[in-house]
Amino acid sequence: MIGSFTFENLPCRVVFGSGTLASAKAEIERLGGKRALVLTTPQQEAQGKSLGAALGPLYAGIFPGATMHTPVEVTERALAAMKACEADCVVSLGGGSTTGLGKALALRTGVNQLCIPTTYAGSEMTPIVGQTENGLKTTVRDAAILPETVIYDVDLTLTLPANLAATSGINAIAHAVEALYARDTNPVTSLMAEEGIRALARALPAIAAKSDDREARTEALYGAWLCGVCLGTVGMALHHKLCHTLGGTFDLPHAETHTIVLPHALAYNAPAVPDAMARISRAIGTTDASQGLYDLAKRLGAKLALRDIGMPESGIDKAADLAVTNAYWNPRPLERNAIRELIARAWAGEPPVTIKAAA
Ligand code: NAD
Repeated sequence: MIGSFTFENLPCRVVFGSGTLASAKAEIERLGGKRALVLTTPQQEAQGKSLGAALGPLYAGIFPGATMHTPVEVTERALAAMKACEADCVVSLGGGSTTGLGKALALRTGVNQLCIPTTYAGSEMTPIVGQTENGLKTTVRDAAILPETVIYDVDLTLTLPANLAATSGINAIAHAVEALYARDTNPVTSLMAEEGIRALARALPAIAAKSDDREARTEALYGAWLCGVCLGTVGMALHHKLCHTLGGTFDLPHAETHTIVLPHALAYNAPAVPDAMARISRAIGTTDASQGLYDLAKRLGAKLALRDIGMPESGIDKAADLAVTNAYWNPRPLERNAIRELIARAWAGEPPVTIKAAA
């Protein structure tokens, strides 16, 4: 039975396909932009410059300094670059780090953003930015943060190495998994969530087997878009909070942390969300959703243990304390002992199990 729900469609224009980067100039003009500042990481500077050349007179310059966690000092340098070249809009070409910088600039100046994602992180679909200052990460949600236009070009994802595609893809799946049991879940977002998981779970093994499989790359990017919409539309729960805490406290890599934690966080929530478990299982073609996600990560050759990505064993208790300190909504109440066990298993790389509440 369909219950009551609220659904808010976020206003964002999406251009999807192969060769769609060629429409960047027209899309900037459509937004009324006259001078575009291109943003990239140092690794993608050359790609940004060739996009700049294609923009012709609309190209105002490039700021190739985007980095993880959107540090405020980097945003300030980008603001100065915007001012120096009199840019009236930004073009973010890259993964979640570059998208984050474009969002931080839009939050401060109100400029329009054309976002061209090259990973599966999904940030381009959300009105949220996480920024760091003096080692502290704070999250802001504001309508001005959502990019106006997003160009998905499959061709740009072909250079994303298979190992990064694997973890970035499971990072995307995590958005859809939590959307299926979000407090404000709704039937439309759930449709996108199930389809997003299905597309990625099918595409990622094909990419691992053949990195330049265009059909699989297309399906993965399509799935990533759907999962990004889920992240932007409904609230997240334990999994995202845990990854935020672990990443921030132990400086762990974003997508790999999501990949390792997801099966365990889902196993924790499993008893409270039977419908979501059934939909996730159906989408990945398994009988047990959390074990299925663990098996998928293993099959893709992803790391399965937090200890292998830099988390110290001594951090398990600290992470468990932090996970229950700031109360937030989760379908299953937050129980410190069970969460500690969840983190310990993820630290050691063991398969996920549902830890019962202490009697
Ligand atoms: P990333 O943007 O940090 O990219 C990782 C590396 O891969 C970079 O060096 C980048 O230049 C390179 N790269 C990206 N695309 C490539 C390609 N196609 N080919 C070759 N190299 C490529 O990683 P990410 O996982 O996309 O983003 C992580 C960041 O995004 C985190 O800071 C996270 O907090 C943020 N994020 C925010 C939201 C949100 O809604 N605010 C959502 C998801 C992620």
